[in-house]
Amino acid sequence: MSYSKIIKQSFQVSFNFNLIFTSKIFKVDNHILLDLISNHSTIKSKAIVVVDNGVSKAHPQLKESIINYFKQYNNAIQLNGPILEIPGGEQSKNNEHYIKLILEKVNNFNIDRHSYIIAIGGGAVLDMVGFAAAIAHRGVRLIRIPTTVLSQNDSGIGVKNGINYFGKKNFVGSFAVPYAVINDDSFLSTLDERDWRSGISEALKVSLIKDYNFFQWIENHIKALNSRDKNVMNELIYRCADLHMKHIQNSGDAFEQGSSRPLDFGHWAAHKLEQLSNYEIRHGEAVAIGIALDSTYSHLKGYLSKPELIRILDCIINLGFNISYNQMTDEIIKGLEEFREHLGGKLTIMLLKSLGTGFEVHQMDENLVLASIGYMNEFSSEKITL
Ligand code: NAD
Repeated sequence: MSYSKIIKQSFQVSFNFNLIFTSKIFKVDNHILLDLISNHSTIKSKAIVVVDNGVSKAHPQLKESIINYFKQYNNAIQLNGPILEIPGGEQSKNNEHYIKLILEKVNNFNIDRHSYIIAIGGGAVLDMVGFAAAIAHRGVRLIRIPTTVLSQNDSGIGVKNGINYFGKKNFVGSFAVPYAVINDDSFLSTLDERDWRSGISEALKVSLIKDYNFFQWIENHIKALNSRDKNVMNELIYRCADLHMKHIQNSGDAFEQGSSRPLDFGHWAAHKLEQLSNYEIRHGEAVAIGIALDSTYSHLKGYLSKPELIRILDCIINLGFNISYNQMTDEIIKGLEEFREHLGGKLTIMLLKSLGTGFEVHQMDENLVLASIGYMNEFSSEKITL
């Protein structure tokens, strides 16, 4: 049947936010946060603060510094209620209870759409708080202060949030643009070795699909990264964040309505591995394995040369990542369909045709995926016996 009337609707909304790099954001002579949230009127800006408890444990002075900062600028900004601490890591995304805690705080402390939720922590806590901020009053201003390498170069600087549900990664969540993101490098010194390394895989990912020079740079700085050179890590974070931000700006699909997800190179297997390992494997560690798998697959399928594959696998292993895990069983294949279902539309997987150039396919040969896992196991055991 044809319709009798139609009113067409079309409009555009533009979004702007800044990713600001600094050190010691809550030192009273650092005016970045004050300038960002004070509205320069007689009405004070209200904020609540949520902190990852892994960060507050590692930085025992943090809570006091935040309270002191707000006290100092009491004429312009106001901290409403006590600072809320949330258990760090994936557990914060596996339990909806924490969303409720934040909504209660928004309600109890009169936070409105012109107020701020300041979230400080790793990618998991930021994802969870981001979702709560997006649904409270249909969107309260969110300022993210990411505290891990991965959240400063990838997860904390984008437009997505979410929690895990039905045992599936990011099953509940939304696209929501932050008010601002502040990368404070003084948090990075307390990361444990796994979390220092973990986020490097996201830089490797974006370099392999978009920027050969960046890949070479990473190869040349493995030693410095492994010895926790702060300046080198700052540069890695800046370059990786810049590539991610440009992608969101220029892809024409910031809210991922199509099937293409270039920045998810290596992620279909990574998400499944995280789940199969009961989140024992960090997201970045799983991404390193996912990159190794899709690069090996690219080679076995005839797209990527052997010397190029060896450079990738060597780089991953020399950075200290494992590419062989006992959870890498046939079960991993289910990750392909779960990935497709999460995105909707056609299965779209990013592979490599050379270092720095990705391309997309819509089919994966399951036997070749299993053969790739075998190849990686052999490669890493030979390395170990070398
Ligand atoms: P994480 O958030 O799980 O944090 C790891 C651990 O580090 C936690 O125990 C935390 O308490 C601790 N920690 C955080 N900062 C610290 C600091 N400065 N010093 C000491 N300890 C600190 O790990 P992550 O790698 O930051 O984030 C992974 C999460 O990010 C996953 O849930 C993943 O799905 C998500 N992610 C989201 C996006 C997105 O676009 N929204 C993109 C990629 C990944």
